[in-house]
Amino acid sequence: MRNKIFYQDTKYAFYYDYIFFEIYRPIFFSCKDQNNQLYLTTLCDDRKEFRWIMVKTSENQLIDIMKNKLTMYEVYVNTDKWWIIKEKHGIKKCKIYTKEQVNELDFPTKRGYFDADKDELKDYLSHIQNEKEYHMEKVKRDFCINCRKETDIVWGKAERTTNIKGVPFDYLETVAICKECGQEMNPHGLIDLNIKELEEQYQKTYGNK
Ligand SMILES: [Zn+2]
Repeated sequence: MRNKIFYQDTKYAFYYDYIFFEIYRPIFFSCKDQNNQLYLTTLCDDRKEFRWIMVKTSENQLIDIMKNKLTMYEVYVNTDKWWIIKEKHGIKKCKIYTKEQVNELDFPTKRGYFDADKDELKDYLSHIQNEKEYHMEKVKRDFCINCRKETDIVWGKAERTTNIKGVPFDYLETVAICKECGQEMNPHGLIDLNIKELEEQYQKTYGNK
């Protein structure tokens, strides 16, 4: 799925990120642009033409939608910019709509909750984790505090032990190593990833409590 193009022209490029619901074709899915911005995308018409409506979103919003804390409608209504993609005779076109141009009938139904089950949520969370690792490991160089200059990164996993509620817990953590001196590096975003990794592995061992 990674890098599979949903839409592209000279101005925009949207890649499929995650498909939440499909019947023959994706109905409700997320896309990303080149800057890794997430968009919620729904197919709103498939009669005379195909029409999709997209709005900016975040991973947290998508998780809230899956947990029924937020409706898709709320995401669509609480913004001021909509990307409308139309496909007719195999040709897709994209245009940004403003509040004056957009038709609320294109939004998902007002009180429609997504009602994801446990497995669907779990699958989405592991997708987010994979995305994080993927984008992290694309970072090839960073400043090494030991070499006092920018050097190449070697990515790997390290075994760690930490104390949680007074009990030692072993887990695997993603690490970035300086290729020149072997010093561990700390590129932007790695700490967040490490916290997630620990949390996930702890949950896997001890469940939700
Ligand atoms: Zn170094």
